[in-house]
Amino acid sequence: MVGAEAIVDAFAEAGYRVTEPRRALASLIAAHRGRFTTGDLVREAAASRVGVGRATIFRSLEVLEELGFLEQIALPGGGHGFVACAPTTHHHHLLCSRCGRSADIAATGLSSILRDIATRSGYRIDSHRLEVFGLCPDCRSAAPRKTGN
Ligand SMILES: [Zn+2]
Ligand SMILES: [Zn+2]
Ligand SMILES: [Zn+2]
Repeated sequence: MVGAEAIVDAFAEAGYRVTEPRRALASLIAAHRGRFTTGDLVREAAASRVGVGRATIFRSLEVLEELGFLEQIALPGGGHGFVACAPTTHHHHLLCSRCGRSADIAATGLSSILRDIATRSGYRIDSHRLEVFGLCPDCRSAAPRKTGN
């Protein structure tokens, strides 16, 4: 999760003019507690009073991804979304498949698994992605209890 001001600063530091639409977009992004799609932002921008054009949205998302403020997430049903993240050290995300809320997780022990994979496969491993999907505590308590099975 990342604040609107941090996003605005990131645009400025990367040499982009901080226009009113970019500010508005930063607030829209910061308002998401978890994953969102480009389509979500296009809809929200259309509903807001400040005009933020599609081209601005697409370009800004690209810029923020390059700057490390957004991470692309492959969604289980196909397609992709983003989560806003302060660019820190490498980490992974836990995502709620109902409300989209995301949390950062440290995967302790993963590096030894990767070393093991490298040894067994003979690959030199350069990168990996790990996204974990499930129901967040709020959605779990709202969900009707599963019966059977
Ligand atoms: Zn994150
Ligand atoms: Zn990792
Ligand atoms: Zn949830």
